Amino acid sequence: MRPFDLELARRLSAIREQGLFRELRRVDGAQGPRIAMGGRTLLNFSSNDYLGLASEPALRAAALEAVEKYGTGAGASRLICGSLGVYHELDEAIARFKATEAALSFSTGYATALGTICALLGKDDVIVIDKLVHASVVDAARLSGARIRVFAHNDLNDLESILRWADAAKDSKSQSSSRRPAVLVATESIFSMDGDRAPLRELVELKDRFGAWLMVDEAHATGLYGAHRRGLAEEDGVADRIEIQMGTLGKALGAAGGYIAGSRVLIDYLVNRARSFIFSTAPAPAAAAAATAGIRFVESDRGSARVAQLWQRCGEVFSAATPDSRSSARSGAIIPLIVGDEIMAVETAGRLREQGVFIPAIRYPTVARGAARLRLTLTAAHTAEDIACLRTALAACGLLPSRSNS
Ligand SMILES: *Cc1c(COP(=O)(O)O)cnc(C)c1O
Repeated sequence: MRPFDLELARRLSAIREQGLFRELRRVDGAQGPRIAMGGRTLLNFSSNDYLGLASEPALRAAALEAVEKYGTGAGASRLICGSLGVYHELDEAIARFKATEAALSFSTGYATALGTICALLGKDDVIVIDKLVHASVVDAARLSGARIRVFAHNDLNDLESILRWADAAKDSKSQSSSRRPAVLVATESIFSMDGDRAPLRELVELKDRFGAWLMVDEAHATGLYGAHRRGLAEEDGVADRIEIQMGTLGKALGAAGGYIAGSRVLIDYLVNRARSFIFSTAPAPAAAAAATAGIRFVESDRGSARVAQLWQRCGEVFSAATPDSRSSARSGAIIPLIVGDEIMAVETAGRLREQGVFIPAIRYPTVARGAARLRLTLTAAHTAEDIACLRTALAACGLLPSRSNS
């Protein structure tokens, strides 16, 4: 081996020793409740395709039509000559769906966080993030150069004391810089690895009291919560008090990409300043068309029926006998089965695969060290029989969840 490869092999063996080695598992076929993997068909309980839209005929048809009309590639970034009609239709569909003045789509949710946070903040500003916020927001915070403060997960008292500190720091800074330093609070609405909710109403009150801005990543709530399925901010009645609403088009919406929804001036500003938007070729037209079709589906009565079906399935995981749709809706579609030890989590995932059930082990750096888990997710495409099989497999591994640990 060359010295370069030797060095990397050494690093990889350290990763292996900690039970943190990862490898790709090839899936032969579409995303769905059953996936073909390693010559076997497994029941899949790990997808974020919550409404089963990733292989929905209406989305496939929209993607094919976009290929016919626009070809396969945009050819350039949107600000050069790549701003095809299909992206304008998507941006308008997002704004209408989210009931905001405007919206902007990005190639991924990750690029959305990076572009947006770095456009809004610089070294004189402060970003305050929840301890469990997604890696895309953490990476964006670092890249922005802003001062980073982390508050304990969903802990309003901790956040308040940080905002009080930031307020004082702001006053001393503002004499030396040309504009008043900004303070941005960033969190998720439904947390990706724990499935719990942020206290959005209280967060909105708090940031308003301190004149801070709020960015909420609705990656795991878009399409699922609220009367129009806009997200948890809609359900909690605070959407129009959140400056920056972020989400992805690749989870419940069944396509790929990310978005920001908000005021017209925010979107105009991002078009001018979000580097991941400006310096990147526009996404595949097929992905944008599928996302627009995904939004239309979610807005329709069929979307509402899919969501109801999802909550029904969630209730069945806890108890086949007493489906209580209210408490199952509260527990959500993400159910973490905490194992703790990394190596044990990988072994447990292996035992579940032997039982025909696929739930991968989620380990550091996705979650904290010693907090390894099986992240169980449900979709509307699962059947009651699928849930029964899941319960049997979980029971065989001593993992059947109870309501209290959700
Ligand atoms: C998946 C995810 C993202 C990134 O979105 P992609 O479209 O997959 O790049 C951002 N935030 C959260 C909370 C996520 O779960």
